[in-house]
Amino acid sequence: MHTNYYPLTEEQELFRRTVREIAEKKIAPLAAEIDECDEFPWKAIEILREHELLGLGCPEEYGGGGADLLTCCLAVEEIARVSAPLAPRISASALIGEALYLGGTKEQKEKYLYRISRGEIIPAFALTEPEAGSDAFSLRTRAVKDGDSWVINGTKCFTTNADIAEFTLVMARTSGEKGPLGISAFIVDKGTPGFTISRVERKMAGHGIHTCEVVLEDCRVPQEALLGEEGMAFANLEGLNKSRTLVGGVGVGLAQGALDVACRYAMERHQFGRPIIRFQAIQILLADMATKIEAARQLVYKACILSDLKHPDAMMLSSMSKYYATDVAMEVTTDAVQVLGGYGYMKDYPVERMMREAKVLQIFEGTNQIQRFLVARGLQSKYLS
Ligand SMILES: Cc1cc2nc3c(=O)[nH]c(=O)nc-3n(C[C@H](O)[C@H](O)[C@H](O)COP(=O)(O)OP(=O)(O)OC[C@H]3O[C@@H](n4cnc5c(N)ncnc54)[C@H](O)[C@@H]3O)c2cc1C
Repeated sequence: MHTNYYPLTEEQELFRRTVREIAEKKIAPLAAEIDECDEFPWKAIEILREHELLGLGCPEEYGGGGADLLTCCLAVEEIARVSAPLAPRISASALIGEALYLGGTKEQKEKYLYRISRGEIIPAFALTEPEAGSDAFSLRTRAVKDGDSWVINGTKCFTTNADIAEFTLVMARTSGEKGPLGISAFIVDKGTPGFTISRVERKMAGHGIHTCEVVLEDCRVPQEALLGEEGMAFANLEGLNKSRTLVGGVGVGLAQGALDVACRYAMERHQFGRPIIRFQAIQILLADMATKIEAARQLVYKACILSDLKHPDAMMLSSMSKYYATDVAMEVTTDAVQVLGGYGYMKDYPVERMMREAKVLQIFEGTNQIQRFLVARGLQSKYLS
């Protein structure tokens, strides 16, 4: 079934359908493996690379797709519809690609950006620390200048893919200011002495995508590893607003996938001599699921459009769309399990996996509590002015 989703252009609609086909034919058969197997899903990544989806949001002049945020969102949504943990690989490459594009030197762009854009390398992003989660600016990792190099010390946690990434973009404090000022970004290449993966977390879902603790102990990197101006890491991380919006897109896609399974099941499953979709209680459940997804989708798309327009409300919409769409994903996947009854709880149907996959969306890229706080802050400044 193909539905035209307002406000997509014909071209975007065609793109969405193409990605859906790739996702259904090639990624869906790997989704359970990505969830359960402890190995990085290179096969699925190769499919994204082959179809030029990994570098979709990276700048065209460096070999990327140069796509607008709404188009990236469509890809993320369709991949998430079948495998939610895989979809953020597209937004992570776009986020780090943009940081390199905005702040990188010619050499850094040539060395890393081309390869990210072509999907040849996977980057990682290390901001969170054991004592600095939501309060990320309180990070304690320090980088001290020593001649022509920087020496980094600290511990990072929950760094996605740090164990397989070609490099990790490490946020470290380089001077004593408070808040974002004084935090610098360093490109730390795989294998740099003093950069150790001290632990791979055991988690709820997406076991193939590793979440790592990283210890930096007298980790020496050259001056050329500094990305952008010293102490100004966040000046080049505008992409964080975009990747947050794309997490909303992951939520929409995942919820849609769960609704699709639930509707089909409700039409096939008979109890009391009729398909369960004929019972009003199930109808109400399905109707609410579909309505919430549609509302979330429109909010996420609007956030994408405002971001591309650099509209003053773009940041607030990015937070709104992240928390609303991922809360919807949690609700809808839980309800999908309910529609399938006991079978929904079993691994024979994908909704059990989808419900587990939804949870992290409410936590990473800034928890949904923090997003509400950011929306309220946006409202305050709006009504003050
Ligand atoms: C699977 C996974 C992958 C991740 N990948 C990465 C990555 O690649 N790179 C990276 O840097 N980080 C990554 N993270 C970290 C993620 O961004 C943090 O987990 C998140 O920002 C929350 O930080 P925390 O876990 O320390 O929770 P805390 O900040 O300790 O929060 C605990 C609870 O308190 C609430 N809370 C905290 N402060 C406030 C407040 N002011 N008002 C209201 N409520 C509040 C939170 O909402 C939450 O419910 C990842 C996390 C996970 C789970």
